[in-house]
Amino acid sequence: MDASHAHEHPDLDRCREILVQLNDYADGELGADLCRELEQHLAECPDCRAVYDTLTGTIRIYHSLRDLPLELPPGIEERLLRHITHVEK
Ligand SMILES: [Zn+2]
Repeated sequence: MDASHAHEHPDLDRCREILVQLNDYADGELGADLCRELEQHLAECPDCRAVYDTLTGTIRIYHSLRDLPLELPPGIEERLLRHITHVEK
């Protein structure tokens, strides 16, 4: 597809951090400060928000994002997901 992005990625490493914390966040186990950071990132990052929406829309939140068995609807940023889930198999 087109290599140019309609939006800017703040930072893929940052996204990884955020998405790992997303599990705790969804479980309500994240500290208030981290929650704020995370929410701010979600507000700025459509990719992470898409993942978050998917996570929360999924019946169950899994604690290990690396094993993330999510069935993502087509159109979600698979490119980014490949980065962040970083499957080693
Ligand atoms: Zn992000």
